Amino acid sequence: MTVKDTTKHPCFNKSTAGSCGRVHLPVAPKCNIQCNYCNRKYDCVNESRPGVTSGVLKPFQAAEYMDKVLAREPRITVAGIAGPGDPFANPAETLETMRLLNERHPELLFCLSSNGMGILPYLDDIAALGVSHVTITISAVDPAIGAKIYAWVKDGNVVYRGEKGAEILLDRQLAAIKGLKERGITVKVNSIVIPGVNDEHIVEVAKVCASLGADIQNMIPLKPTADTPFAKVPEPGRETVLPLRKEAGAFIEQMTHCKRCRADAVGLLGDDQSAALCGTLQACSK
Ligand code: SF4
Ligand code: SF4
Repeated sequence: MTVKDTTKHPCFNKSTAGSCGRVHLPVAPKCNIQCNYCNRKYDCVNESRPGVTSGVLKPFQAAEYMDKVLAREPRITVAGIAGPGDPFANPAETLETMRLLNERHPELLFCLSSNGMGILPYLDDIAALGVSHVTITISAVDPAIGAKIYAWVKDGNVVYRGEKGAEILLDRQLAAIKGLKERGITVKVNSIVIPGVNDEHIVEVAKVCASLGADIQNMIPLKPTADTPFAKVPEPGRETVLPLRKEAGAFIEQMTHCKRCRADAVGLLGDDQSAALCGTLQACSK
C-alpha cells in the first residue's frame, strides 16, 4: 500500500488548510437516523451546509468525477464521503467508491464522515482500504439528551425512537471510536452545538470521546434549517461556542476552522468550488 503523508488533511491539520484541499463524493444518499436539524434537499445554488448536494453519484461515476476534479484542482489531497446521507447506510456504494479510488488515486488520503450507527461491521474493510481519517458525529453522550436530537434511529428494519434509539446509537458511536483507534485510524468527533438542548452537555461529550482515544473534536454551531424541528432554535454565536471549545480543549484538541461543508464540497476549505463544478458533477451523474 502507498505510504501517505497523513498530515495533509486540511480539516485535521489547520496548517495545511491553505495548501491542501478535499472533495466530498456524494455517493451515499440514504440515512439510517433522523437528526432534528437535518433537511437533505438536493440543491445547486451555492448553499453551504452539511447534507446539501447538487447530485448523487454511483461509485464508477464518482471515480470519473474524481479524475475531472483532480485535473482542475491538483491541490486536492483528500477524497471523502460525507453523505448526503450516511456512508454506512450505503455501505456497498461507500466501499466500492473507496476501492475504485484506491486503484486510480492511491496517493490520496481517504476520509469518511458517519453518524456511527452502521459503521461497526465495516471497520476492518475501512482499515484495509487505507482510510486514514474518520469522523463520527456525536452530539450527546446521555440518551436523555440524545432523544431530543434524534427523531429516530433505524437498526436493520426496526425503527427506534426516544431514549432507546439514542442509547443504541450512542453505544455504536462509542464502540466505533474504540474500534477505529484499535486500527490506527485518526478519529474526529463532530458535535453539533444546539442551544438549550446540548450546549451545557457538550464538554461531557468531549471528555467521554477523549477517554476512548478520539483525536480531535469539532464543535459545529447549529445552522437552523427550514422544515426541521430545530428551525427556530437560534444559531449559537462565538460567545457560546468559544468558551465551550476552551473548556473542552482541556480534554481533547479542538478544530476551529470548520466550514460546515456541503456533501459535494470540493477545493480548499476557504475556496469551495462546488458551485463551479456543479455542472461536472451533474454530467457525471447521468
Ligand atoms: Fe442528516 Fe447526517 Fe443526521 Fe443523517 S446523520 S439525518 S444525513 S445530519
Ligand atoms: Fe472539514 Fe468541516 Fe468541511 Fe468537514 S465540514 S470537510 S470538517 S471543514
